[in-house]
Parts: sequence; C-alpha cells; structure tokens
Amino acid sequence: MKYDVIVVGGGIIGVMCAYWLVKSGQTTVLLERGEIAQGTTANSFAWANATSKTTDRAYHDLNAMGLAGFHALRDEFGAQALGIKSGGSLQLAEPTDTAGYKSLRDQAAALATFNHPARWINTQELRALEPNLAHKPDAQALFGPDDLCLDAPRFSRFIAGQIRKLGGEVREHCAATTLLATDDGVVTGLTCDAGDLQAQNVLITTGPDTAASLAGLTGYDGFMSGFPMGKVPGLLLSTLPVAPNLLNRLIYGAPSNEVHILPEPSGGIKIGADDMDGMITDDQTDKNLRRVGLLLLERAAKLLPALADIKIDTCTLGVGIRAYPQDGISIAGQMPASKGFYLVATHSGITLAPAIGQLMAGMIHTGQTPDRLKPFALERFAGFS
Ligand SMILES: Cc1cc2nc3c(=O)[nH]c(=O)nc-3n(C[C@H](O)[C@H](O)[C@H](O)COP(=O)(O)OP(=O)(O)OC[C@H]3O[C@@H](n4cnc5c(N)ncnc54)[C@H](O)[C@@H]3O)c2cc1C
Repeated sequence: MKYDVIVVGGGIIGVMCAYWLVKSGQTTVLLERGEIAQGTTANSFAWANATSKTTDRAYHDLNAMGLAGFHALRDEFGAQALGIKSGGSLQLAEPTDTAGYKSLRDQAAALATFNHPARWINTQELRALEPNLAHKPDAQALFGPDDLCLDAPRFSRFIAGQIRKLGGEVREHCAATTLLATDDGVVTGLTCDAGDLQAQNVLITTGPDTAASLAGLTGYDGFMSGFPMGKVPGLLLSTLPVAPNLLNRLIYGAPSNEVHILPEPSGGIKIGADDMDGMITDDQTDKNLRRVGLLLLERAAKLLPALADIKIDTCTLGVGIRAYPQDGISIAGQMPASKGFYLVATHSGITLAPAIGQLMAGMIHTGQTPDRLKPFALERFAGFS
C-alpha cells in the first residue's frame, strides 16, 4: 500500500495533523515511537489561549484560530470526552506596580485592536469571579473569557481514536528511522520499526526532538547544530483533586508573585512559574525538583490560600521540554529543496494544534501554502532560504 501521508510523532501536533488529513480524505498513518502524547504534550501547562500573544499579529491570529478550533471540537464531541475545562483566564495587575500594570494594559489595548474577546475588569468583578483568591485590595485583571484549560494527553488520545474511526492508522511503539527519497529530493516513504512504508508525503512532528529526528531520518548531522530551535525545560506541579469551585479559571499572578495556576479538568490544580524554570535547567534530580516544587507550592498558596495545606509528597512533578524556534514563533511548512517533505516545530503547540493541523492538512492536500502559514516557513531562517 502507498499512503498519501506518513505523520511522524504522536504528540498533540501530529495527532491533529493526522486527524485533519484523514478528514480531508488522505490515506494517513501516524507513527509514534512510544505511546500517544508521551512527549512534551504530557507535561504542558496546557492553557489554550491567544490572550497572551500580542507581539506578532500573524502569530496571534494563528493562536486565535487554534482556540476557535477547540471550541468547535468541544461543540462536536463534548468537553468531558476531550478533557476541556472552560471558564477563561485572568491575568492579574496591581496599579502600584507601574511597569507591570502598563504592560498588561498595553496587552489589553492590542487585543482590542485585534478584535479578540478580552476585557479589563475591576477588583469587584475579580472578587466575584474568583472569591477564593488572595490579592492586593486594588488588584485588577485582564479577563480572557474564551480561554480553555486542557487535559492534553486525554484530548490527544481521544483524537487518535477518531483518526482510527475515520479509517486512518495510528501505530504506537513504532519509531521512524530512515527517510526514503530520490536523489533529487522527492519523498517516497520511510523505514520504521515495522519495515518500509511507501508514501507521497512525510510530515515530521517530533516536537523538541525535531533536530535529532531530521538528522536521524536524513543522515545529515548538520541538523543537530544548524536547526534554528532551542529546547527549554519547564517544571509543573499538579495537586490531587481539590474542592470543586475552589478555582474556576486560569490565573496568571501579578509580577509581585510570579506564578500561574489553573484548575485541571481532572480536578487538581496545576502550578508553574516561568522564572523558576531556570532553577531546573541543569539539575533535574528528584531532590532539586522537590526543592523547586516546594517554592511553587509556596507561591501558589499566597495566591490561593487553600493550597497552604497541600503536602508536596501528594503532588506530581513533571518536567516538559519546550521546542522553542529561535524567533519564538512556529515553524510549519515544507522542507526547502524537497518534494513531499514537511515539518512542524513550535512552542504553544497545545493552543496551535487545531489550527496547524487543519492548515498543514490543506497544504499537503492541495500543494499550496495557505496564506496563514506563509509567515511560518522554515525559509525565514538563514541557511534554509
Ligand atoms: C512547561 C511547559 C508549559 C507549556 N505551556 C503551554 C501552554 O500553556 N499552552 C500552550 O499552547 N503550549 C504550552 N506548552 C507547549 C506545548 O506543550 C507544546 O508546544 C506541545 O505539547 C508540543 O507538541 P508536539 O506534538 O509538537 O510535541 P510532543 O508532544 O513532544 O510530541 C512529539 C512526539 O514525537 C515522538 N517522536 C520523536 N521521534 C520520533 C520518531 N523517530 N518516530 C516516531 N515518533 C517520534 C515523541 O515520542 C513524541 O511523542 C508548554 C510546554 C511546556 C514544556
């Protein structure tokens, strides 16, 4: 059999690409070397939003399309099946913190010019929305009512089930090892743990392992040092389920207590803090993760005092590796100087997966780059143009 497309990597990006490929009538097989959603997708804060992305209009719009995609899927399959928690997000600001307050006000102004659903709320409304939070008496917030919290592994496994239902193949414990192509760069398939597979197109969605998989699949080691993407680890802590309605939506703490917390669809609270990620970059021993985990809990309890009684030994600590393109925005499109060879490597992949999946499927199906993907081509980086 000759497939239209082989997708390599069963994280949320590969799963959503394969889903849209199958929906557009392409014969598709998704290969995952382990199990679905075992990579970064398993250790993500998983806040689906475009509210925090205001510096680049095209990137904002792609995230907004991703968020809209989640809303459409939720309407089709239901929040419970997909592991989606609605309720939106609140990013806190304190008027006495002049720089932080101005920065969030500027973000709100940018979102207004983008016509994105977000609005500024006063202390009274903040208290009404989240009565259990502790914050300064004059705190205000940017409210993103459409933002979602996701159980990303559950979502990915559900979509993998839909791929199978629609007639696509999902092969777990099946690593891709060698790309098969003609001398002039036309893809003909690949070799994987199950043997040779023939295909017209191969799409690489291996997240933080993109450089290593490109090097391994093509035999060109230059990808290891020359691919324009870094890897940035982050620590997340999840508690056991807490009282219902203790927290109703994602909260981004003000700069005086930098921490973000969200209610997981499974009932616990997930906690992260960007400025603490550096503390685990070089030392991911259990001892160090526990030490930083205690600091996360401490900050989270200042924001949500009911967490003060949570014991670290009842919590789960997870390290996720962000795939971070050099300029911070996604890489999605065709490999230069090839035919039938595509890749996606991105941060914010939870939010973006429904949009990137749909657009990449359209691109592979028609052979045309959709306008929305044009700013994200790999060609924008030196050495790939
Ligand atoms: C701490 C942290 C917080 C984050 N917070 C958010 C957030 O709030 N919102 C948001 O939108 N994004 C967030 N992200 C980013 C988001 O989680 C990622 O962008 C997304 O999960 C990436 O998905 P992926 O499918 O590209 O990669 P992965 O989930 O890593 O999937 C890649 C898969 O490829 C497989 N693979 C690799 N090589 C091969 C091979 N040769 N053959 C077969 N399979 C292979 C791997 O096993 C893996 O399962 C966060 C990330 C981190 C680390």
